[in-house]
Amino acid sequence: MSNLDRRPSAAELGGLAATAARPVLDLLPGKEVLLGESTRVRRLLPTLGRRMVGAWTFVDHYGPDDVWASAGMQVPPHPHTGLQTVSWLLEGEVHHRDSVGSDVLVRPGELALMTAGHAISHAETSPAVHPRFLHGAQLWVALPDAARDVAPAFEHHRALPGFTSDGLTATVVLGSMGGATSPGTAYTPLVGVDLSLAAGADVELPLEPDFEYAVLTASGAADVEGTPVTPGAMLYLGTGRRTLRLRSAAASRLLLLGGEPFDERIVMWWNFVGRSGDEIADFAASWAEHERFGEVAGFPEGERLEVPPLPPLPLKPRGRER
Ligand code: MN
Repeated sequence: MSNLDRRPSAAELGGLAATAARPVLDLLPGKEVLLGESTRVRRLLPTLGRRMVGAWTFVDHYGPDDVWASAGMQVPPHPHTGLQTVSWLLEGEVHHRDSVGSDVLVRPGELALMTAGHAISHAETSPAVHPRFLHGAQLWVALPDAARDVAPAFEHHRALPGFTSDGLTATVVLGSMGGATSPGTAYTPLVGVDLSLAAGADVELPLEPDFEYAVLTASGAADVEGTPVTPGAMLYLGTGRRTLRLRSAAASRLLLLGGEPFDERIVMWWNFVGRSGDEIADFAASWAEHERFGEVAGFPEGERLEVPPLPPLPLKPRGRER
């Protein structure tokens, strides 16, 4: 998906909190964002309290939305640079098309991993005939300087590895956990795991003490290290943990995100990640001039997201929270 905000804020460039050098329990309220005319999403990253978790730099949780009588998701072609997008569905179907020629239907449990690198454009739409409910997460991963100019690529992994324990079914979306490793290409040490908890589950996950982590609840409600986490909020866990205790009174779906703290300074604005305001302005100009980002087949000329006005403030690079 795209950041559809017509006035993307530069305020998210100002940091407030610190990357914790120890375990913490920091419950971060997300904010409701209206995308287009009717779609509401819960933006869990960046928020006022936190901008990155490892290289994860953008998290929108949407749905479940009843799209039976509507067109569902309709995001026309738009550009990305310097990041990867991770599309994760719990319900529904999304038709992904991009400027490297991908044209696939993505379903729940499948990983759609798009590496923008140098530049890519893509579109995501609900098929004309689609399931009643749409529910998922759109996540972005910042690419490190050494990889941010790689050739654009798209990976579609229909089957992902995982592990189970009493009351838990874990699917490793990106990175490794519990002896399972996702086939998705990652450029920094990180992990993303979908956790399905049965009612009454009480489990412990193995963590990397060098990683920072955060967890969100997509449905149900879970107790994470004694803290209730309900949809609409994200619990930041800090670093220095070897295990994570999860308990769930009712069946729940969670997403655990983590990674080595990302210590490069980046600029993120609209759908771009770069290293300076000038670079972001160049990306924006290239999109406006139909350069650099290629074309997405299947859309009429002119059916695309136009770049919003650049904010008047100079765009400063940002690093991890301190
Ligand atoms: Mn997008």
